[in-house]
Amino acid sequence: VPELPKEDKQRIIEALKARVTEACPRCGNRGFALADGYFNQTIQTGFGSLVVGGPSIPSAVTICDRCGFISQHALDVLGLLPKGDKND
Ligand SMILES: [Zn+2]
Repeated sequence: VPELPKEDKQRIIEALKARVTEACPRCGNRGFALADGYFNQTIQTGFGSLVVGGPSIPSAVTICDRCGFISQHALDVLGLLPKGDKND
């Protein structure tokens, strides 16, 4: 099973620690785990047709270690998206 490189995980955790101030919105817990991969949700402007391979928002994913609530943080905003890798 492929994993995120350790240094990438470290960069994500440091970026989140520098910005995230609130506890889990569902249970108030402060502990979380970083998912071992990215979400890359597609965005679309209508309901009529599913666009495959269209624009997307690559994001880091954290999971509350008490209730399992999943949060997504856009890599672009965290400054972690490589240049030329913007998927729009
Ligand atoms: Zn929680």
